[in-house]
Amino acid sequence: MPLQKDILNFINGEFVAGSKWFENRTPTTNAVIGRVAEAGKAEVDAAVNAARAALKGPWGSMTLAKRVELLEALVAEITNRFDEFLEAECADTGKPRSLASHIDIPRGAANFKVFADVVKNVPTEFFDMATPDGKSAINYGYRTPVGVVGVICPWNLPLLLMTWKVGPALACGNTVVVKPSEETPRTAALLGEVMNKVGIPKGVYNVVHGFGPDSAGEFLTTHPKVDALTFTGETRTGEIIMKAAATGSRPVSLEMGGKNAAIVFEDCDFDAAIEGTLRSAFVNCGQVCLGTERVYVQRPIFDKFVAAMKAGAEALKIGVPEDKDTGMGPLISKEHQNKVLSYYKIAKDAGATIVTGGGVPDMPGDLKDGCWVQPTIWTGLPEDARVIKEEIFGPCCHIAPFDTEEEVLEKANANEYGLATAIWTTNLSRAHCVAQKMEVGIAWVNSWFLRDLRTPFGGSKQSGIGREGGVHSLEFYTELKNVCIKL
Ligand code: NAD
Repeated sequence: MPLQKDILNFINGEFVAGSKWFENRTPTTNAVIGRVAEAGKAEVDAAVNAARAALKGPWGSMTLAKRVELLEALVAEITNRFDEFLEAECADTGKPRSLASHIDIPRGAANFKVFADVVKNVPTEFFDMATPDGKSAINYGYRTPVGVVGVICPWNLPLLLMTWKVGPALACGNTVVVKPSEETPRTAALLGEVMNKVGIPKGVYNVVHGFGPDSAGEFLTTHPKVDALTFTGETRTGEIIMKAAATGSRPVSLEMGGKNAAIVFEDCDFDAAIEGTLRSAFVNCGQVCLGTERVYVQRPIFDKFVAAMKAGAEALKIGVPEDKDTGMGPLISKEHQNKVLSYYKIAKDAGATIVTGGGVPDMPGDLKDGCWVQPTIWTGLPEDARVIKEEIFGPCCHIAPFDTEEEVLEKANANEYGLATAIWTTNLSRAHCVAQKMEVGIAWVNSWFLRDLRTPFGGSKQSGIGREGGVHSLEFYTELKNVCIKL
């Protein structure tokens, strides 16, 4: 199947144009490869109304067993069309096929299965109580869908992070209006075709394309008939969405930015720590919210660690998605490339030692115009340097030495974000103590990005509000009511 040229909104089971069009570019060359229908107020309104109608219609009255069957059919159909999803995702993001084919697409599909299993198997609570008249009453929890959920998505793992929200939302019986990132509209639209093919009723899954302010993002998040908002993206955008949700007292789930620290103790398995830290700094061209941009290494192994990181970064092959040797693709856009390069300059101006990288790689032919940057490592900056404090979201990290556990905990926690950490040590007791004291939502020990989708996922501090994953998703995607019966 050739890539679609026109990417349309998906409203009430149909593909429709919008009020305007905007360009769809591919980051490897920055060439225009299609156009996207931008949803105006009218299209967003139609999508929300379709979602409300579907709640009252066949979706609302469907048995759980049938809903689960449809979600499982979705997984099968995404898997059937694996290559199309893969091509669409790689065209939008420029990421290596080797990455998207083992993370983005399979996990994007698996999200429907995981949450179908959760809703099938999770019971609610029950309490028996004595009443003052010597008799008794029973209480049980009963979950109902929260309603129409607005789903606002980022561009770094487009399908995976979208279905991470749409999966539990649908499993719990809600309907959704999805606003994919303007940079990556393709797989959300393709999923519309899959919804129709497997027989998900019209209006259950809707997609509106566009930007944030004065576009589909704002129209959706301020729409009074949207019952709840779930968002993944930058912290500043999350704050705007939280303000929008305040009108009508609507629940929000926010998965936001990070400035994650890796802590490497001298007693670590050195090779595993290098492999994990290289991956966490450079995979997906550093555009992973859980990625590492600050590395703290215990002094006795500091020089050896920096040298091994340098060698690993320089061995990464920068290239196009279809080349199977590609270890790192481009950034998502020219705008983001400019942002990351501005931080490379900030680091240099602040007097960082540039261990490797710091610029744009020399690419051949058409690729010259793409959004490439070099993987970059710095040392020697003070803890208050901007590249140590602020999220860059590029393939870069600063490595600093430390001496004691207390010192590193203080440094690692001295940040406004609190999403994730990776701790590398073979000392079991220390691993637990440091993991428990880190102010983050997710602490990995001797690993990174190892995800069991049944576990809670989310950030502390300015990295997020709420937890999704497994049963925790039910807290957001359902209304839990207590039924009390006097016997
Ligand atoms: P972004 O905040 O720029 O955009 C995210 C989405 O919000 C897009 O769909 C965008 O169009 C929309 N949007 C922007 N302004 C809006 C507004 N005023 N009203 C409504 N919608 C609006 O984020 P991004 O650049 O797409 O993604 C990168 C960011 O996402 C990074 O900060 C990264 O850390 C974060 N992220 C977090 C997680 C997590 O799980 N915590 C996961 C992935 C990415």
